[in-house]
Amino acid sequence: MRYFVPMQMKRRAVVLGGALASGLGAFPALAQAVGRPVVVASANGLAATETAIARLKAGADTLDAVVAGVNLVEDDPEDMTVGYGGLPNEEGEVELDASVMHGPTSRAGAVASLKQIKNPSKVAKLVMERTDHVLLVGEGALRFAVAHGFAKQDLLTEKARTVWLRWKETMSDKDDWGPGLADPGEAAQAAMADWIIADRLTGTINCLAVDGRGDISGVTTTSGLAFKIPGRVGDSPLIGCGLFVDNAVGAAGSTGRGEECIKINGAHTIVEGMRRGLSPTDACLEALKRVAAHYSGDRRKLAQFNLHFYALAKSGAHGAASLWGTYGSKPKRSRYAVSDGDGSRLLDSAYLFEVPGR
Ligand code: ASP
Repeated sequence: MRYFVPMQMKRRAVVLGGALASGLGAFPALAQAVGRPVVVASANGLAATETAIARLKAGADTLDAVVAGVNLVEDDPEDMTVGYGGLPNEEGEVELDASVMHGPTSRAGAVASLKQIKNPSKVAKLVMERTDHVLLVGEGALRFAVAHGFAKQDLLTEKARTVWLRWKETMSDKDDWGPGLADPGEAAQAAMADWIIADRLTGTINCLAVDGRGDISGVTTTSGLAFKIPGRVGDSPLIGCGLFVDNAVGAAGSTGRGEECIKINGAHTIVEGMRRGLSPTDACLEALKRVAAHYSGDRRKLAQFNLHFYALAKSGAHGAASLWGTYGSKPKRSRYAVSDGDGSRLLDSAYLFEVPGR
């Protein structure tokens, strides 16, 4: 199978690993820390990586740093895939999922189907720190958050409510909902909503960090699949799927179609790939090939979704890969965010297939 690795990653692999020219080359997975912090995130996390790297430079723990980074996105009403302002479930209620892993202490925490609390990543961290459990869900997770002083609030913004209503109104002509537009002024709003609905907007933020000592942590936080069936849990809060950290090797995470990631235990698979010597990029590509194999490589079926993986090795080497290089009705190139000693930037992800239909 052909796959695509951007030039910037080939260069980086040569600098850090030496062995990777192309293809699944050998990689020093258990390399020593390079002595400078590196943070990677999904493409919506550039500001998050900047916050996290600033915290690391000030001496913060890797998990505190990445959670502070993703809190920016959880608080941002304009990001409709994470935290406050996230798109709701099919009944119009926002349900959030998140997980954290702390490499130095090999601990993990997570929450799923959490309502009314805008920072599920902080609650996931508290599950890790203050309980003997790893995952709390639904009502129990909410009570736990309230017990720890989190304020309940309505997470559904007007913008997200409008998109959800449009989805409900345009879903079927065999029910009594819409789609009549009340006035022409709503047409632009409807067009925006139709685009989000057509693409079944995916998002989520995954953020991974290694510090100068080689300690590693990660976090993944999301409002999940837009218009999901209430109670649906995606990959983000599942340790080994949307997030995995092994302080001896590295970390990985995912965004995109969670069900496909769960079926191959995406993040764990990638970290194990790095342990076997794959570079971060190649470990992500290998995991994506397993997803493709579930559909016998049938691109028509694979075109129904996209899936993105991110990986960071203990050495500070990083990479990302997506099933599709460019995806969506307003085609968007798959990218990821990095902050390190060379500044902050978005880099092209590697990918298995170029554009659905080709
Ligand atoms: N991976 C998330 C989930 O399936 C959604 C996303 O990243 O868009 O819940």
